[in-house]
Amino acid sequence: MPCGFLPRGDDIVGYGEGGVMKIGVVGCAGRMGRNLVKQVAAAAGAELAAVCDRPGYSGVGQDAGVLAGLEPLGIPVSAGPEAVFAACDVVIDFTTPEATARHAALAVEHRTALVIGTTGLPAAFEAELAVASSHIALVVAPNMSLGVNLLLGLVEKVARTLDESFDIEVLEMHHRHKVDAPSGTALALGRAAAKGRGIDLGERSVRSRDGITGARTSGDIGFATLRGGNVVGDHTVIFAADDERIELTHKAGDRTIFARGAVRAALWCEGKAPGLYSMADVLGLK
Ligand code: NAD
Repeated sequence: MPCGFLPRGDDIVGYGEGGVMKIGVVGCAGRMGRNLVKQVAAAAGAELAAVCDRPGYSGVGQDAGVLAGLEPLGIPVSAGPEAVFAACDVVIDFTTPEATARHAALAVEHRTALVIGTTGLPAAFEAELAVASSHIALVVAPNMSLGVNLLLGLVEKVARTLDESFDIEVLEMHHRHKVDAPSGTALALGRAAAKGRGIDLGERSVRSRDGITGARTSGDIGFATLRGGNVVGDHTVIFAADDERIELTHKAGDRTIFARGAVRAALWCEGKAPGLYSMADVLGLK
């Protein structure tokens, strides 16, 4: 079953052959990586074809299933990402911004579709992703859950409906290990609110407050970050006016919701033309 990506060399078929998408997971030893291995292994129409983790990872050769807490799957952890991109129709990447930059280049080299869940990607990387997406199908989403992607649409709509008498604040809480702040999802919610209100988030966001800050500037979008425990991810967008307040909240109870969304995105890539896609495309929310 041809996939519609640019052919690898002279090979114009091979993606999703026999109705099965060969899916790879880079960062397979991580919190999300292990969850992704489980979800790919369980998904109809998907075959876990190859996995790897960071260079020098001590678990090279270990069985991916065992690493994820499953029965052996017969898929050993590869020594590097090249083998993963060479073997797969689509690769799922929940790693670090540095690793994701390398993986995007490999995806283009091998004409492999790529699903990026990594957050904290630098703004400068956006231009590189746009170039990559002219060669491959690329799905990028700071949050792969159905609920948060619905929330993005709701936030944009509420922000479009209300005027500046409603102050917009985005509050998020994550587990103690998270390294970037505000979360990619909080920023996406801020962008959705800014889009609804017709303003540029870059010019109107207040990312932290400390000391004598002065009164709140009307029209700004504020962010507040909490870290602690094993919280998977809570996000609330608050629209606060005099005497009334709307709060839109999503709470993730388990990483499985992100992994399921990522696998859905990977399967959705089958037959897609090169392009930069979001979860709204994958979930048909546009
Ligand atoms: P983690 O630290 O548990 O896992 C990251 C894994 O990537 C580790 O196993 C690490 O060794 C591996 N890695 C690092 N460099 C690598 C390289 N060069 N090649 C291959 N593997 C490499 O982190 P996590 O909690 O699994 O989160 C990973 C990323 O996913 C973070 O950016 C997080 O914010 C993001 N995330 C996104 C969503 C979403 O829905 N988009 C959901 C949860 C987490």
